[in-house]
Amino acid sequence: MEEVRVFPLTCAVQNYAWGKIGLDSEVAKLVVGGDPVAVIERDKPYAELWMGAHPKGDAQIKDNRIAQTTLGQWIAHYPACLGSKVKDAFQGQLPFLFKVLSVNTALSIQAHPNKELAATLHAQFPEHYPDNNHKPEMAIALTRFQGLCGFRPVDEILGFLQAVPEFHALVGRDAAEELRSSVGDEVRTGRALKKCFTKMMSCEKKVFVDELNELVKRVTQEGAAGKDTSSSNGDLLLRLHSQYPGDIGCFSIYFLNYVVLEPGQAMFLGANEPHAYIYGDCIECMACSDNTVRAGLTRKYIDVNTLCEMLNYKPASASSKIFPCVPDPADPCVTLYDPPVPDFTVMKIQVPASVKDYTVASVDSASILLVIEGDATATSAAAFSDVTLTRGSVLFVSANESVSLQVTSQSGMTLFRACSLL
Ligand SMILES: [Zn+2]
Repeated sequence: MEEVRVFPLTCAVQNYAWGKIGLDSEVAKLVVGGDPVAVIERDKPYAELWMGAHPKGDAQIKDNRIAQTTLGQWIAHYPACLGSKVKDAFQGQLPFLFKVLSVNTALSIQAHPNKELAATLHAQFPEHYPDNNHKPEMAIALTRFQGLCGFRPVDEILGFLQAVPEFHALVGRDAAEELRSSVGDEVRTGRALKKCFTKMMSCEKKVFVDELNELVKRVTQEGAAGKDTSSSNGDLLLRLHSQYPGDIGCFSIYFLNYVVLEPGQAMFLGANEPHAYIYGDCIECMACSDNTVRAGLTRKYIDVNTLCEMLNYKPASASSKIFPCVPDPADPCVTLYDPPVPDFTVMKIQVPASVKDYTVASVDSASILLVIEGDATATSAAAFSDVTLTRGSVLFVSANESVSLQVTSQSGMTLFRACSLL
């Protein structure tokens, strides 16, 4: 049988409790779009769609003429599909996991180790750190997307230390004073910030729960009295506290930037960058790893020592956390989200309504293509037959293969594509 190198996938859904419910979830909408007979349960969370070959959610090949049933099995059989550079650089594995996330309640505050630290942690504590790889991540908003990312500028943190006595109590007077007097000296500021954050994270549970309850009570009363609670970041505090009562992560809003991405804007989460997703739908791409160090908004294990040692204590504004995407010089329909890691690049492809024939160009890497909007008939010399693409369709494209789209929708098409441009 002739080898087929382009084929459709049925992707794994993860029903984590934090996901948006039923058809409110972009994940669920894409699932029914790609498979009209799929059943979406009204009360069930649809948190993540996994497009890749991860063993916990290996995509199914949607063509029974192909002997292998999953993408992982197929790549193991035909590693040349990755492209020779990717195959050599990543030991015959697809280097990325491509996802859609629909976030209803906040995910834990976390950071991911760099490769060196990941290897050390995995050797020491394999039960908490399951592999030796880094886990850079990119989130691209599909709807207005809210998250926490990186340490705030110092003047903002100092402002909260002054305005929120309960927060000041956890950090302590000495550490707070050290931060105040460090302004203007980058090295001292980094050290002082680490001291402040470590002091807070090391507080005994009884102490921070009492302070948190006090703070929530005060902000609630102020809100009820019609007062502006923004100097205590009141709305976000009450929202996170309602989701994670008594959690130390509720205080992290005074250290970390609150970032809101408009559709198409992205956040790149490199090694040691503290972050959390709070609400919204996004495309996500990451290196294949499960190494996560948590810092709150979680019922899972928090490794305070590792976390406080590893973090990037470089204060920066919320707007600086928006990752710059660039137009592809080779194709006016393509926007590139190209992070400073070799594992993955994401492309947004917007085919305007005026273009009816569009070619998804070949790249020297295997790629995964997701249709977000629009309809087309896809043709490729490397496919068994034409494939009908609709919202939610996912296509695997081997390295050095192109795909022709004959667009049938009136308003054009929007697709996202993940690959590894070494
Ligand atoms: Zn993360």
